[in-house]
Amino acid sequence: MKKERELIPKPRSRFLRVKCPDCSNEQVIFSHAKTVVNCLVCSRVLLKPGGGKGKVEAEIVRQLNSWG
Ligand SMILES: [Zn+2]
Repeated sequence: MKKERELIPKPRSRFLRVKCPDCSNEQVIFSHAKTVVNCLVCSRVLLKPGGGKGKVEAEIVRQLNSWG
């Protein structure tokens, strides 16, 4: 019997850890979000959705492959 491997599709999208320019809050956002992403602390817009990849309006601290 063949062992079934769990298929985890490699996402083309990425998660970004960004730093809010206004309040320095760091949070993880999805770079291909379909809606505007706001800072959880001060509600500043951190990402605006675009064609495919969104426009990040915050400082990118690092890119992540998953939440963390
Ligand atoms: Zn903020």
